[in-house]
Amino acid sequence: MPTYFRIPHADRAQAKALGARWAKDVELWFAPDALPEVAQALAKHWPAIEPIVPVYVFPGEHTTFGNDPPLALELIPSTCWLTNLRSCLSPEDFKRVRMGIRQRSGKTCEVCKGHEHPDDEIYLDVHPRFEYIEGVQVLRRLVCVCTRCLRAIEFGTAQLHGYRQDAFAHLQQVNGWSAEQAMAHVHAAFEQWAGRSRMEWDVDLSIIEAAGIQVLLPTPEQQKKAWIHLDDIRPADMDISAFMATLALNPRKA
Ligand SMILES: [Zn+2]
Repeated sequence: MPTYFRIPHADRAQAKALGARWAKDVELWFAPDALPEVAQALAKHWPAIEPIVPVYVFPGEHTTFGNDPPLALELIPSTCWLTNLRSCLSPEDFKRVRMGIRQRSGKTCEVCKGHEHPDDEIYLDVHPRFEYIEGVQVLRRLVCVCTRCLRAIEFGTAQLHGYRQDAFAHLQQVNGWSAEQAMAHVHAAFEQWAGRSRMEWDVDLSIIEAAGIQVLLPTPEQQKKAWIHLDDIRPADMDISAFMATLALNPRKA
């Protein structure tokens, strides 16, 4: 088991010079198992911390949920306060979950089967997949996904960051879709998003809690602050269908 250290960001060059390595899964510096002298050198400067125990069993998880089509847009309604898992777990617990999901997948994207390519800025991350049912945003599954798949899943965000074309091409490629099929999916996803964004949503993270991990829920006031209502962001002079078309198809973002 490697020895992990909590090393301040400012000390990272010094730690590296002493032989410390960076564990991306858990975002901590460590001394490899086989190099006890590195652990000793690091321990003179920084405290060693408990090893991170990955979590990869989530009782009640639906492990094939959302497999058809393999890659789909999963736009989070603007009235959901929970847009990322990190915000409702402690940093340590988030690391355990992230590490577990990456290991469970064999460090492979579960959607496109791709691997990590840091040189191309393609990484693997944990993605929470939700079902929206009777006013509840239910966490059904945790999926290991690559950056390219994540851009398609979070298509709206990808557009804002200039990745629309890449996301669209990947959507086509992974699903074996024509451009028309992919476009029909994008339109349908935004339409569904608009409908869901008119409702208010509770959150069900019971598969996380069943794994023995504490969920940190915000107060109702904090939750409401996180909402972006569709009608608040829609320009006053634009009707809802034109607004949705803009979100899906703004050529400026392509
Ligand atoms: Zn992928």
